Amino acid sequence: LTSSASNIEAHTTPKEEAGINKDQGTSKGPGYQEALHSRWADSLDFTRLATELAETGKSFYSRGWVLGTSGNFSAVITREPLRLAITSTGLDKGCLTPAQILGIDGGANVVIGNGRPSTEAFLHLAIVSSVNAGAVLHTHSVWSTTLSGMHASRGGIAFEGYEMLKGLKGVRTHEHREWLPILDNSQDTHTLAQIVTKSLSELSEIHGFLLRGHGLYSWGDSLQEAKRHIEVLEFVMEVLVRSAQEPLPSSLSGVI
Ligand SMILES: [Zn+2]
Repeated sequence: LTSSASNIEAHTTPKEEAGINKDQGTSKGPGYQEALHSRWADSLDFTRLATELAETGKSFYSRGWVLGTSGNFSAVITREPLRLAITSTGLDKGCLTPAQILGIDGGANVVIGNGRPSTEAFLHLAIVSSVNAGAVLHTHSVWSTTLSGMHASRGGIAFEGYEMLKGLKGVRTHEHREWLPILDNSQDTHTLAQIVTKSLSELSEIHGFLLRGHGLYSWGDSLQEAKRHIEVLEFVMEVLVRSAQEPLPSSLSGVI
């Protein structure tokens, strides 16, 4: 948490949203004051993240990546205890608002706001726990749906030779080979979360994965980094699908 006490004092709305009574703080001990400040800061972080997640949703919708209420987004509010800001289920991402973002705990129970969290919340929690992600974003693009079906028998797609890959964390050259695994889809999100956890423990270098016939998951240390990773992976997937109509230059690889 980076907010100072003075910054926290300057904001009354999140404090009120957190259900903290101003008068309570003056009559309790220092530990109580610290706890109050911590809650105010968490509330400020939630408000900021909810706003940013809503903006991300609208941006991705405009790109055609989260149509028909598909897709879901989350960001870590605190790690101890684990709290995620996450989209409610079944929303039109084209008009997503901060009020439609919920806070959940490590068991996907709602602790901030009203509504049901995304049905894929357990996948978000599994990714956050496995790779210590600060944010997890999930899209259902035409490109990911197409490629995840066509490449399923190979277990994934290898991208190599694309300058855009340098937008992925830790990638310094277009010669990088990025492996994007494809996992079988399932409506049993608990089992799917276990499969994701196992895959991430075995494939530490990846920046995302596909669910077959479903969509893309990516993540980052921050929401900004996760957004950049989605943009890079969606870009190279779109290139691969579109280039199926034209032969790829020999320097670019990816079989379709
Ligand atoms: Zn999905």
